[in-house]
Amino acid sequence: MNFTKFPRRQYIQGQTPIEFLPSLTKALGGDVNLYVKRDDLLPGSAGGNKTRKLEFCIADALKKNADTIITCGAIQSNHCRLTLSWSVKENLDCHLILEERVAGTYNKEASGNNFLYQLLGVKSIEVVPGGTDTTAAMEKKAQTLKAEGKNPYLIPIGASNAIGALGYAACAEETMNQLNNMHLDIDHIILPSGSAGTHAGMVAGMIGGNMGIPITGINVSQSKEEKEEKVYNLAVETAEKLDIKGNITREDIVCFDEYVGDGYSIPTDSMVEAVKLFARTEGILLDPVYSGKTAAGLIDLIRKGHFPKGSNILFLHTGGSPALYAYMDSFR
Ligand SMILES: *Cc1c(COP(=O)(O)O)cnc(C)c1O
Repeated sequence: MNFTKFPRRQYIQGQTPIEFLPSLTKALGGDVNLYVKRDDLLPGSAGGNKTRKLEFCIADALKKNADTIITCGAIQSNHCRLTLSWSVKENLDCHLILEERVAGTYNKEASGNNFLYQLLGVKSIEVVPGGTDTTAAMEKKAQTLKAEGKNPYLIPIGASNAIGALGYAACAEETMNQLNNMHLDIDHIILPSGSAGTHAGMVAGMIGGNMGIPITGINVSQSKEEKEEKVYNLAVETAEKLDIKGNITREDIVCFDEYVGDGYSIPTDSMVEAVKLFARTEGILLDPVYSGKTAAGLIDLIRKGHFPKGSNILFLHTGGSPALYAYMDSFR
């Protein structure tokens, strides 16, 4: 895969670690061996997956001479926090549109990512009700800023367009190189599926690199059918951008929607169990909205015997731990 034809900022030096998780493996019965790829340790304030996508999205913004970034997300959005953080680093203004998906939950004084928006000096926050067309809200904001002489650039929710997904195609390549160097044969990758750029980029990159490790997404929102369709379309678009010759089939995209619970960002008992288990066996902090629910899916699938005995499973840890501090009551 050739990434050199795309504008790219270099926010990441080297590779995020791939680690064996011996105590968690044992705690879950030892039938499958668990490994983690630590994208929670990526640079950018407090880490997490969006930095890989932003290397490409912000480079595109700079190429277009933008001086301002507008993006959107949920009220405790890691994506908004990291977009703001890299905008600060690049001397770009950053404005956020936050969608209050669960009515009455936005609190200006809340901890977690919300606190970090303030600390990082966000230019403006506009909170809109759940179900609002956030793209239209970003475009409206852009009009206002243009009238003030600014040159804004819009980054979609989760930086999940084909430009952002390049970051996870690059992560697939990084992962394949690491596994070859470690001589580690992974049978299955499991990751969260939200705005879909992570899942789609990894699938495109795996097919582009001809390694063919099956990938399972655990939904943090939406139904299986909706999410698989979204991941598939974005994976195909990303593969086309990269001139990948291998074919992505609909069957390459697998999502489970059993671990969403009552909805996006709403805590579940199995998420709380998973966050505690990772913390107390491996000292690894997950988050309540993404990696916690994904780990809950992983744990349940292992307990149900979904993976053949002896399988090596790689969990992609996408970060998000700052959100823990906005959900402390769920863990007490
Ligand atoms: C955004 C996010 C995800 C989901 O990634 P998508 O590319 O949106 O599917 C997973 N984990 C964390 C911590 C995130 O912030």
